[in-house]
This record gives sequence, C-alpha cells and structure tokens, in this order.
Amino acid sequence: MNIKEVHSKQHAFFNTNKTKDVNFRIAQLKKIKALLKENEATLYKAIYEDFGKSEFETYASELSLIYHEINIFIKNIKTWSKRKRVKTGLANFPAKSYIIPEPLGVTLVIGAWNYPYQISLIPAITALAAGNTVILKPSELPSRTSNIMAKLINTNFPNQYFCVVEGGVEETTTLLDLKFDKIFFTGSTSVGKIIYKAAAKHLTPVTLELGGKSPTFVLADADIKMTAKRMVWAKFLNAGQTCVAPDYVLVDKTIEAQFMDALKTELDNYPKTSNEQKENYLKIINTSHFDRLSKLINHNNVCFGGIIDREARFISPTVLKNISFEDDIMKDEIFGPILPVIAFTNLDDVVKKVKQRSKPLSCYIYSKNRKIINKLLKEISFGGGAINDSIMHLSNSNLPFGGVGLSGMGTYHGKYGFETFSHKKSILDKPFWLEPNIKYAPYTKNKLKLIKWFLE
Ligand code: NAD
Repeated sequence: MNIKEVHSKQHAFFNTNKTKDVNFRIAQLKKIKALLKENEATLYKAIYEDFGKSEFETYASELSLIYHEINIFIKNIKTWSKRKRVKTGLANFPAKSYIIPEPLGVTLVIGAWNYPYQISLIPAITALAAGNTVILKPSELPSRTSNIMAKLINTNFPNQYFCVVEGGVEETTTLLDLKFDKIFFTGSTSVGKIIYKAAAKHLTPVTLELGGKSPTFVLADADIKMTAKRMVWAKFLNAGQTCVAPDYVLVDKTIEAQFMDALKTELDNYPKTSNEQKENYLKIINTSHFDRLSKLINHNNVCFGGIIDREARFISPTVLKNISFEDDIMKDEIFGPILPVIAFTNLDDVVKKVKQRSKPLSCYIYSKNRKIINKLLKEISFGGGAINDSIMHLSNSNLPFGGVGLSGMGTYHGKYGFETFSHKKSILDKPFWLEPNIKYAPYTKNKLKLIKWFLE
C-alpha cells in the first residue's frame, strides 16, 4: 500500500465535505457494526490464535464495548453536531453567538496490542462519528488481529475514507512524517514522547492514551472478601495486560494477613500450571514480554503463584508479599499477572511516596470511610479510577477516559471522544441594522465613562 497516496486521497475526500453529512456518518457506523457482527467468528479465532483470548472475554472486554460506543454515536451525533447557541452579552448587542462542532480532517489512530480490537477501533469509529477520515495503524504484535482488521476494513471501505495500515515502527514512522489534522495514540509513555515530537513538527493536536503504575489502596475498614474478589478479577483479566489494571496494592498492615488469604481464595479458580491453562486465562503476548515479566518474580517474595512456562508463554497469577517501594517490581509498569503487595502502617507516608512518582492512569480505593476516600481523591492526581472497584470506570461512557501527566493527555469515550475529534468553531453573528459609535475614534472622556459603565 502506498501510504502517501492514501493520505493525499483522504485529504481530497475530506474536502468534498461528504463526511460533514451526519446521515452519511450514521450509515458508515451501521455498516461497521454489521461488518463486525457478521465476522464475529473470524474475530474470535484471530485473537485466540494471537494470545489465547476466549470468546467470552473477547466479547465482554472488546466487541461489546465497540458496539456500545457505536450505538451511543448513532443515537447522539445528530444532536452533538448541531450548532449550539450561547449568550452574547451587551457589548455585542444585537448579535447572537453560537458554536459549530466541525470535524478536524484527516486523522491518524495508532493502537496498542493488549485489547487489539477495541483500542484500535473505538478511537477510529469515534473519529468517523465526528466526521473525519481515518488511517488506522493497529499494533503489529498480535499479527492475526491486525490482519483481520485490515482485511475487513480495507475490503469494505474506500481507503480515501477509512483505511488500515499494518506494520510496526517503520510504517508508523512513514505515517508520522505526514501532516495529519489529529493523531490519537494508545501505547507506552516512551513511544508517546516520539509521537508527540513528530506531531509537533506539524503542530498536529494529539491525544495520548498512555500507561503507568496504578496504585490500589486497601484500607483497614474495607470489605476484605469483596475487595479481593473485585481486585483479582481486574488484575488478572487479560493476564494483567491491561493499562488500567491495579499495578500494585497498598494494604493497611492490620489486615494484611486476612487480605492475603482472601486473595489466595479468589485465585483458587485460576490455572496454576500451563497444563491447566483454561479458556479464561490468557498467554503473555510474546516471549520478550514473557522474559521481562519472569525476571520481575523474586521467588523469595512469592505468596501465591510464580509458576512459569516459557514455551506456553504462561505465567500463573502471582501475588508478591513483603514488597517495598524500592524493589525492582516497583520501577516500571508491570503489565502482566504479577501483583506486588506493600503493607503500610502510616497512610500519609505511602500517599507521599505515590505522589513522588509520576501521575498514574488509574487509582483505586477500597474503604467505607468517606473522609479518607475524599482525602485521597483530593491529594493524589491520576487519570480516573474507582471506589471499591477496579477497571470498571472505563465501561461507563459518561466518564471521560484518559491519563494525566506521564499517563497521557486528552480523553475519549462517548461525547468526550466526539469532542476530542472535533473543533469547536465559535461564531458571533451580527445584523447590519445597529452599530453604536462608542468603540470608534475619537476616544472622548464621555465615551470612556460610558464604556466603563457598559463593561464593568
Ligand atoms: P507501544 O508504545 O510499544 O506501541 C504502541 C504503538 O506504537 C504500536 O502500534 C507500535 O507499532 C507503535 N510503535 C512502537 N514503537 C514505535 C516507535 N519507535 N515509533 C513509532 N511507533 C512505534 O505500546 P504497547 O506495548 O503496544 O502497549 C502497552 C502500553 O500501552 C502500556 O504502557 C499500556 O499501559 C499502554 N496502554 C494504554 C492504554 C490507555 O488507554 N491509556 C490502553 C492500552 C495500553
């Protein structure tokens, strides 16, 4: 595929104004949904071959989220695309003022590998819903899912409107040399910096959905059983390869032993060896990530799990105890099925340590004490999170999803995504019939008095 040619065709197509017609956009969204529905079996097969993700998990954590976003857009984009009247004020009387949401133009969406369908397709669909054209570059690591998305999109949509470019660093670098009207990137903080730098060359606006180490607080008054249940599900979903997974736990020392027991009970349902690897537990994406994760398991700290099998790319759900902020596992985002637990005796001390690190993508607090919950919410800056739950905040499209600081910039999901891919054009609209002379020269003392009276 000639990337430059597709890019210039998209500019030409955008300039025909066809995508500004909301009915055209709705028709395309319906077509995408129908296409995914018709090909669900192929989509399930591809992701299973890439990293053993089951049909249930693929539906629950990928396809259902895509369908949900499409439904929201089909229902709302007519309203969201309308111009909105706002107040004008006396200084501009007798004008009216309004905001016109308009598409940005030709957009580039770059995906990460961990939820390969939804992380690529939701931003791409959002961009189309807002009236843009899209070049989508999914992650090359899960090659079968990347391939199936390219096949489905490229054979069913003209590339001047929506196109998938497969590939890795080389293809992304070629794309980044071109001038886009918006770049939406999901991936690591280090590659996010490369994207930001490339975008700066053209002053292209970017949304960066990045990662980081998301803390989870378990306070002394938490419902221990329910905390363990919700946390274990969230952490070991996708074998821990989730950007918003609880990265590490900070548990009140007084309940540490009970909490560890509750984690063990919950983990009993999970496979302990690769032979038992069940439909509901994924492989690590590739051997290089497997090797990186295996090195993070210090067997002196293993409280549960720690079984690895390189050939099967299997790491059993692993809980580490007696961890401190200085341990290797606390340096970078884990992004795998290893949960380090730090017990604390003084909450303020651990809050201080969390705040010394870069702002995380998520933070979770398990407690019934509203005073402490509010204190933590006030003191710690993070992208988004949940009280007495983990991960599930991202399933609510009424909540903007995104990071802050090194965990990202910009948000999406639902209306927030529509706004991310739109420009708000501001218009002051005035008739000819009245023009007070006050702002025109000569500037007299009386005019100054009058203007002060008007404006203050
Ligand atoms: P990554 O940064 O390695 O790759 C992301 C994309 O960038 C891929 O499409 C890849 O081909 C491309 N890329 C890689 N190196 C590049 C380079 N040098 N130049 C140009 N393009 C390059 O990330 P990943 O390993 O796919 O994903 C894991 C990271 O993504 C984790 O940090 C995770 O937290 C984060 N993530 C964040 C979110 C979110 O919504 N905030 C969601 C999923 C994953």
